[in-house]
Amino acid sequence: MTLDIALKRIGIIGGGQLAWMMGNPAHKLGIELVIQTPNPTDPAVTIATDTILAPIDDPVATAKLASYCDIITFENEFINLEALKELAEKSICFRPRLEALAPLLDKYDQRLYLEKIGIPQPQFTTWAGETINSGLSSEEKSLNELKFPIVIKARRNGYDGQGTFIIKDRDSLEKTWQKLGKNPVLLEEFIPFERELAVVAARGLTGEVVVYPVVETQQEEQVCRRVLVPAEISPELVVEINAIANTILTSLEVVGIFGIELFLTTNGKVLVNEVSPRTHNSGHFTIDACETSQFENHLRSVAGLPLGNTALNCQGAVMVNLLGYETSQNDYIEKRQKLANLPETFVHWYGKTESRRGRKLGHVTVRCDSQLRSELNAIAKNIESIWYS
Ligand code: ADP
Repeated sequence: MTLDIALKRIGIIGGGQLAWMMGNPAHKLGIELVIQTPNPTDPAVTIATDTILAPIDDPVATAKLASYCDIITFENEFINLEALKELAEKSICFRPRLEALAPLLDKYDQRLYLEKIGIPQPQFTTWAGETINSGLSSEEKSLNELKFPIVIKARRNGYDGQGTFIIKDRDSLEKTWQKLGKNPVLLEEFIPFERELAVVAARGLTGEVVVYPVVETQQEEQVCRRVLVPAEISPELVVEINAIANTILTSLEVVGIFGIELFLTTNGKVLVNEVSPRTHNSGHFTIDACETSQFENHLRSVAGLPLGNTALNCQGAVMVNLLGYETSQNDYIEKRQKLANLPETFVHWYGKTESRRGRKLGHVTVRCDSQLRSELNAIAKNIESIWYS
């Protein structure tokens, strides 16, 4: 189906792999993408009808982007919200709207917002020095009352665990805080989770919400390594997580896709770790293993089209991130070929020209005829043994 409405050009702030993966569905829907990104070698430049080479948070460039497009959406959350508000006042249309992003960009603000709408989450507080301003009560606590381990997070611009540290004692807390520039940080209770889960959900222009299968995510050093689909959890938990996704997207009146990361505690409780106002790494499997990908549904929602079916097109799936493990200019063609030769295996290579340790260079999705966690784990292990050999 192609668009029969005037909305044909969508601007995207951000040109990484998340924007790049909108290329195919945009083509299918007859939408042109114009990208604002700083670097001509960024992945999405190759799929853009036009590119504005400028930093993500440059509002002058965004005004120019707006002059080329019907609406503007976001690939990442490292935006200059205050400057964009001025553009919104001049009738530039952002989807999701800026009011939906405002409570989420700062991790502490996000926690306050989730608390306000009754979403279960770890206990938290903000810290900018000696005393603690608790987010849960107005009391000031002394640092001596904190229970370790504790998690310290940069309030803004963290990604792939870059601004997140698990802290064992007070001394390291002070040191990490200094490393983070002595800015106010988010401190939160360390959750000794049994598993990490995630879900991606979209809300359309008319308010309908669709939710993808709940997945298990596996992180190492705070970076997502693999995703097992669906998560091996009870139907009751799936209902609970769907309700959480619905509440968050509806209360923010989101138009677009959001990714929600969760902890499953050892006593079976679900707590929200983080809400990302964009397509999400935990939803990459949807390209090959679902009826409609998260990227297509994002475009559908921001273009005002009906949302597509989020069901799996197979029994189960595994997604493995191909992370850089060395500094190199290598495009790893042989390894990619070896992976692509495996059955039901889809290799997505982001075309980055430089590899660095931990950098997301691509991902692999395998469609499986099983949902058994042990089998999905074994498939992921095999992929990783080829990639990291
Ligand atoms: P980022 O936004 O940079 O991805 P996150 O806040 O999502 O960082 O944290 C990255 C990872 O760190 C999580 O997936 C989890 O493994 C771990 N983590 C984060 N917060 C906590 C917590 N409160 N308790 C235990 N582990 C945590």
